[in-house]
Amino acid sequence: MSFDVSTLSARAIRDGIAARTFSAAEVVDATYARIDAVEGAVHAFNELTPELAREAAGRIDAMVAAGEPLPPLAGVPTGFKDNMNLVGTHTTCSSKILEGFKSPYDCTAVRRLLNAGALPIGKCNMDEFAFGSSTENSAFGPTHNPWDLERVPGGSSGGSAASVSAGMVAVSLGSDTGGSIRQPGALTGTVAMKPTYGRVSRYGVVAFASSLDQIGPFARSVEDAALVLNAISGHDDMDATSVREPVPDFTATLGDGVKGLRIGVVRDMLELEGCAAEVRSATEASVKLLEGLCAEVGDVDLPMSQHGLAAYYIIGPAEASSNLARFDGIRYGHRVAEPSDVLDLYMRSRAEGFGPESIRRIMLGTYALSAGYYDAYYGTAQKTRTLITREFEAAFERFDVLITPTSPTVAFKIGERAEDPLAMYLSDVYTIPLNLAGLPGVSIPCAKCGTSGLPIGVQVIGKHFDEATMLQVAAALEGALALDMTPPAFPLHRRSS
Ligand code: GLN
Repeated sequence: MSFDVSTLSARAIRDGIAARTFSAAEVVDATYARIDAVEGAVHAFNELTPELAREAAGRIDAMVAAGEPLPPLAGVPTGFKDNMNLVGTHTTCSSKILEGFKSPYDCTAVRRLLNAGALPIGKCNMDEFAFGSSTENSAFGPTHNPWDLERVPGGSSGGSAASVSAGMVAVSLGSDTGGSIRQPGALTGTVAMKPTYGRVSRYGVVAFASSLDQIGPFARSVEDAALVLNAISGHDDMDATSVREPVPDFTATLGDGVKGLRIGVVRDMLELEGCAAEVRSATEASVKLLEGLCAEVGDVDLPMSQHGLAAYYIIGPAEASSNLARFDGIRYGHRVAEPSDVLDLYMRSRAEGFGPESIRRIMLGTYALSAGYYDAYYGTAQKTRTLITREFEAAFERFDVLITPTSPTVAFKIGERAEDPLAMYLSDVYTIPLNLAGLPGVSIPCAKCGTSGLPIGVQVIGKHFDEATMLQVAAALEGALALDMTPPAFPLHRRSS
């Protein structure tokens, strides 16, 4: 039976295996054939795991042969960001300091997805330690956007986004500290969501900023993203910040429409200087569509959220500088040869092992936390964080979900923002406030830019632990838009280098 694994949804793959239209083993073969054809141009993966995938497929095919019911993601090709541990793979965080580091145990979200039948296809490229918005900060070279190979796929989960966009896997996991799932989702035309903080266990994902990090899915449809969220959500004894909140079936309400739902358009964010005209008009058009589906639409301003970026670049680096202290040349990864003493070992191992952005974050964070500056910087940032959270809470008294663009611009050229960290940091102006407030957000493709043809994403923001309503709105919009998000002419492009 011939089938095109590069376009099938997770749901269709599972159902095809259950109906014996094709086997899980055939899905694996088709997946690696697709990867052979396009990965050279995209570089979405740091490591491919065909043995693990074949083993997992064997178990699924044995269940089919025995007539057993299949789990919800049986035989679905899946990518994992390379900051998530999975026994039998390396976990490098795209850093030289962790090159060759072998996962000692499984990340809970990864394990849960595999228990739901997913096939582990490989570990996805990322910005080093998830610092960045372009995947250019990877020690192993950048990932290329399947829509235009000269452009970035966004970041830091750029490999996870590009692997789904280029049809190499049906779904993938990324991590989002300030936008690292949603922003690459917007830039690659994929569905990308960050759950509520505490919804998904962080056990086994290498920490960037522990109070902001959250794991979530990339997919080619809202339904597939909901299926992944079903599988990875819920309390985990290994992560005290994962909550005991009940986990609904997030697919159950996807078809319920938006009639009567109150949708708030975050007006001041939409009018932010630096938001491209096409992004603004695509967002307005999405709102109009939702209005046409009988949603009650209104405007809201979130003036405190404009300070989110500033607060984030104190809190994020502060936590990162502490989390990254463990990479000292002794316990993990890269160690210099013949150090003169232990201090020399620490200093040179870290200087050689970390890339420039990681060093910048560690220095920023250490400075912000040092005596004399702590109250002025860290204390102020934490107060700002509280005010942002309260501002969202007030908005959610009037609205069921909020809408903003996901990224102020479409995908930019590789190298374009590399020398300008501030321009790079602005990529996350719409996504960061949610991490500070712990709120869930999903980005779905809402248009192709009139001039460049590149994808534009819109962000739907939900109340704490109300991913269901947020996904319901996203699904209604997705249905009304009915966009084809297959990268044009791909894989005809070839990377020249
Ligand atoms: N781009 C933001 C940063 O560089 C967010 C990264 C993330 O979410 N991991 O910090």
